[in-house]
Amino acid sequence: MPTSICPECSEEVYVDAESEQGDNVICDECGAKLVVVGLDPVELDPQEEADSDPTASGLDSYDFDEERY
Ligand SMILES: [Zn+2]
Repeated sequence: MPTSICPECSEEVYVDAESEQGDNVICDECGAKLVVVGLDPVELDPQEEADSDPTASGLDSYDFDEERY
């Protein structure tokens, strides 16, 4: 299983072997939300702070148009 270094805590993060660029990964060590930005080698970047998780709808019901522009 490929590993990369968490940009937040510098610990090794295990990335699923079938991960693709743009996939989300959670650091086991610090819980940071990371995104796969490269595969050869695996590179991780901190996820942009986007609270708009479509699978967790219900909480953020305010209009995000205001937030954007
Ligand atoms: Zn971490």
